[in-house]
Amino acid sequence: MRYFSTRDKNEIVSSSEAIVKGLSSSGGLFVPETFPEITKSDIENMINLSYKDKAVLILKKYLSDFSDEQIEYCASGAYNDNNFYNSEIAPLKKYKDNAFLIELWHGKTSAFKDMALSILPYLLTESAKNTGCDKEIIILVATSGDTGKAALDGFKNVKGTQILVFYPEDGVSDIQKLQMKTQEGDNVAVMAIKGNFDDAQNGVKQIFNDADFAKVLEKNGKVLSSANSINWGRLLPQIIYYFNSYCTLIKNNEITYGDKINICVPTGNFGNILAAYYAYKMGLPVNKFICASNVNNILTDFIKTGVYDRNRAFKTTISPSMDILISSNLERLIYDLSNKDDVLISDYTSKLSKTGRYELNDEIKQEILSLFECGYASDSDTKQTINEAFNNNNLLIDTHTSVGVKVYNDYLAKTNDNTKTIIASTASPFKFANSVLEAIDDSIKTNGDFDMLNKLSALSGVNVPLPLSELENKVVRFNSSCDKQEMKQMVCEIYNII
Ligand SMILES: *Cc1c(COP(=O)(O)O)cnc(C)c1O
Repeated sequence: MRYFSTRDKNEIVSSSEAIVKGLSSSGGLFVPETFPEITKSDIENMINLSYKDKAVLILKKYLSDFSDEQIEYCASGAYNDNNFYNSEIAPLKKYKDNAFLIELWHGKTSAFKDMALSILPYLLTESAKNTGCDKEIIILVATSGDTGKAALDGFKNVKGTQILVFYPEDGVSDIQKLQMKTQEGDNVAVMAIKGNFDDAQNGVKQIFNDADFAKVLEKNGKVLSSANSINWGRLLPQIIYYFNSYCTLIKNNEITYGDKINICVPTGNFGNILAAYYAYKMGLPVNKFICASNVNNILTDFIKTGVYDRNRAFKTTISPSMDILISSNLERLIYDLSNKDDVLISDYTSKLSKTGRYELNDEIKQEILSLFECGYASDSDTKQTINEAFNNNNLLIDTHTSVGVKVYNDYLAKTNDNTKTIIASTASPFKFANSVLEAIDDSIKTNGDFDMLNKLSALSGVNVPLPLSELENKVVRFNSSCDKQEMKQMVCEIYNII
């Protein structure tokens, strides 16, 4: 299987090269040449496989330059009892009637990013071997909170790698901040930036696209790679849980093979919902994708009108991991819907960077409208939905999942569509305990983060996830911050680049 850049068809790489490079030289994203089919017999075969073995089956279809042993090694290193606190890895829970939550947050950092970042370090180090890369790999990460911690944990003490995470100083929850500041490991670094997530992501992308800097790094024996969902090695593992959920629905007699489902995803960088779309391209029967946003609802407008316009104010919300105005992975969707028109993609992305806006042609607009539904939730909608889920459905959900649930409920009210629907549950409610507690009972007084976790646990009867309760005894290691213009300089200082 070959991989192409969305902005330049002539840039063709292997799966290992795509994973090591992260971003293509033209600034585009790597996409697979074709989508391998998952057939009825594959699904029948998968139903009784463990999550890990399902992962092996799907990864093999894409990672054609990996040996079977390498794929087995990667999948078993990631999807096991050490890394996940639930034996099913991504259990499906009934929400109501025709709707289910896929809980994607039973990994080490209590957010769905663990689903991919537990395996990415394995994929990356094996890819480096496959490509003969002998340089030290520096993983640069921009995070809206959850990717950073999951990447730090995944790459901690992985030989041959260094990891540096930039997060927006005022754009993550207290627990998220503490998770990153207390990160252990010899090869990790964490830096706050004075700016928002888009600033962090743009800064990282600029460093990646700096050809001169790449040469300097090379002289220093180093090479950059990415753990954001722009990296193919990050996106690919996210396809697995959609097939896994479909198999679970069949196993539980909720559907039979061939029945279409809806997939509703609380969306930021468009990675998670794109993975669902890729599963669909591989044969997963899907009726509608429901794209849920918070008040940074640029994607809602985009899906409805075909106009992407980021000339609007960035808003901070109680679902900070979705506070994003530049959804990188949209580029991959449009590339596919345009029949791989790299020239068109280059045109759209250059318009986006010059004017902050582009408009799709009518054909692509129509395709998007036929497959995608969308909607958004304000902070008060989000809180109300948490409250209702708790009181009416006996479910404790976090602020991001709540955005998905609210948008699904609106869709249901509008359409009466009784198609079985899976909603991505993307974080543990304890990670956003402050807002969750307030949503359920705003009269509760708390005294600090850990008191808050304990009170939420007492109120709900749900245990605080171990990785969060353990934070109380960890030492803060990283307290620095920098301006958004200084990111490259920070890379140089931290790694003694001359
Ligand atoms: C990252 C994240 C999202 C958004 O996912 P994308 O792949 O960026 O669309 C939603 N919820 C939580 C909790 C997240 O960490």
